[in-house]
Amino acid sequence: MRHKLDEETKVARCLICRSEFSIDQLRDIKCCPNCGDKGQPLAIEDDVAITINWHELRILCSWAAKWCEHMAASDQSWTSDKRLAIYSIIGALQEQYPGFQPLGLVGELVKLNRSNSHHIH
Ligand SMILES: [Zn+2]
Repeated sequence: MRHKLDEETKVARCLICRSEFSIDQLRDIKCCPNCGDKGQPLAIEDDVAITINWHELRILCSWAAKWCEHMAASDQSWTSDKRLAIYSIIGALQEQYPGFQPLGLVGELVKLNRSNSHHIH
C-alpha cells in the first residue's frame, strides 16, 4: 500500500552515492545533485526485503566484483559508472549487516569506514 506523498517524502535514490531525493528535489535536474551521476535513479518504492543466506550473498558479490574488474581491465567500453554502481550496491548490502563477514573487498572498506567513523564520534 502506498502512503500519501508529501513534499518531504524521499522517492528516489542515486544508485552511485545512495543520496535520496523528494519529487521536489528532482524537478528540472539532469543528474544527481550530490554526485553528478546521470544514470536513472532507483525508485525507493521498489525497495524489497528478501531472504538470502549471507554466504550466498558473499558468493554473488564476489563474482560481481570479479566480473567488474575483469571487464574494466579488458573492455574499453566498460565505463567507470558501471563499476561504481556495482560497488555502491555491494556497499549498501554490507551496511545492512556491518557485523557480518565482509562482502569481498568493498564490504571490507565499508566496515573500515564504519569503524573509523565510530572512533571520531
Ligand atoms: Zn549521486
